[in-house]
Amino acid sequence: MDILIVGGGIVGLSIAIDLLLAGHNVKLSVRNEREGASWVAGGMLAPFSEGLEGDFLRFSVESLRLWHDYLERIKEISGIGVFFSQGILRIALTEEEERELKEKVKRYSQNICQNIVSYDGRELIKEFPYITEEVRYGVIYGDEGNVDTEELMEALYIAFKKLGGEIIGEDVVRIHKEGEKIEKVYGFFKEMVADFYIFTTGAWLKKHFNFPVFPVKGQILRISAPFKDYVIYSSSAYIIPREKDILVGATTEHRGFDTTTTLEGVRKLTQGAIKVSPALKEAEFFEVRVGLRPGTPDELPIFYFGENFAVFSGHYRNGILLAPITAEIALKLVDKGEFSEYFKLFSPYRFK
Ligand SMILES: Cc1cc2nc3c(=O)[nH]c(=O)nc-3n(C[C@H](O)[C@H](O)[C@H](O)COP(=O)(O)OP(=O)(O)OC[C@H]3O[C@@H](n4cnc5c(N)ncnc54)[C@H](O)[C@@H]3O)c2cc1C
Repeated sequence: MDILIVGGGIVGLSIAIDLLLAGHNVKLSVRNEREGASWVAGGMLAPFSEGLEGDFLRFSVESLRLWHDYLERIKEISGIGVFFSQGILRIALTEEEERELKEKVKRYSQNICQNIVSYDGRELIKEFPYITEEVRYGVIYGDEGNVDTEELMEALYIAFKKLGGEIIGEDVVRIHKEGEKIEKVYGFFKEMVADFYIFTTGAWLKKHFNFPVFPVKGQILRISAPFKDYVIYSSSAYIIPREKDILVGATTEHRGFDTTTTLEGVRKLTQGAIKVSPALKEAEFFEVRVGLRPGTPDELPIFYFGENFAVFSGHYRNGILLAPITAEIALKLVDKGEFSEYFKLFSPYRFK
C-alpha cells in the first residue's frame, strides 16, 4: 500500500518504520526535520514515576515493555546504539509527598511493577551523596529507564531512509476530505495522493482536525555532568544524567506556540535542580531548549481513524514512552484492519 504520513516526530517515524518493515511504501511529509517536541524531550520512560493510573497506566506499561525490542530493532537497522539507562529514582521531599509515594508504591507493587527498591532518607543520602539532605523517602523503579532522544531521533531518520522511506519536505497546508475519506493532501508546493494517510503532527494537529490538541510549552536545561547515576525524579525538577551532559526539566507553560526561552524558566529549573542536588551548583550551564508538548484537556492521547486515514496525537508528557505501542496499533490497523480497543478509549468524541 502507498502510505503518506504527515509529521516527522517520534510518533510518525515509529509508525513509518513498522509499516516499511511490513512491506508498505511510505512517504513522510515533514516541513522541518528538527522541529517537534521529540528532539527536546527528556526521554524518560516513566509510567510509575509519573504516577499514572487506570487504563492509561496499563497502556503505558504495555508500551514500556516494547522498548527493549524497539531499541534493538532501531540499532539493527540504523547501526546506532542509542544511549539508554535503566531505572529511575523517584524521591519525596516533604511528609505529604512521602505518604503519596508510599501509597503509589504499594499499589504498583501489588499488580504491575515488581522491580522496586525502597530507601528511607538516611539510606538514600548514604547511597547517593549528591542528593539533598532534605530527602525523606525514595524508590528506584527498576523497570523504567531513559533514552537520549536526540540520538534516537537521528537513528530513526537513518532507519527510515535505509528502509527505503521517502521524505517530502512539505508543510501540509490543506486536506481535501469527502466525509470520512481523504481525497488529497496539499503541501505548500505540491499535492500528495496515497492509499492511506496518517497524521502525527503533534501540537499542530488542530490545523487540520477539529480535535482539542493544544501546545504545552516545556523549557529544559542542558548542563555539565558532575555525577552519572540514575535519573532523579522529584516534584521540584527531574535530573537526567546522560553520557555527555545532564538534562534538567521541565517547565509546563500554556503560551500557545510561543517558543522563547525565558529567565523565569531558567530560574525555576535551576532552583529546582539545586534543591534536589546541591552538588549541581558547580555544574556548567550549556543551554536551554524549548519544545511544545501535544496536550489535551484530560491529558490522554487522541486516536482516530476514518475510511482511509488515521490520526495519532495528544501524547502530551509521555510521547517518547508511548511511541512503540502507538506504532503497533497503527500497523495493526493498516496492515490487518484490526481496531485496537484504544481507539475507543482515546476517541476525540469523549469530549463531546
Ligand atoms: C521539555 C519536554 C520534555 C519531555 N519529556 C518527556 C519524557 O521524558 N518522556 C516522554 O515520554 N515524553 C516527554 N515529552 C513529551 C514528548 O516529547 C511528546 O509527547 C512527543 O515528542 C510527541 O511526539 P509527536 O511525534 O506526536 O510530535 P512532535 O515530536 O512534536 O512532532 C510533530 C511533527 O509534525 C510536524 N508537522 C506539524 N505540522 C505539520 C504540517 N502542517 N506539515 C508537515 N509537518 C508538520 C512537525 O514538523 C514535527 O515533525 C517531553 C516534551 C517536552 C517539550
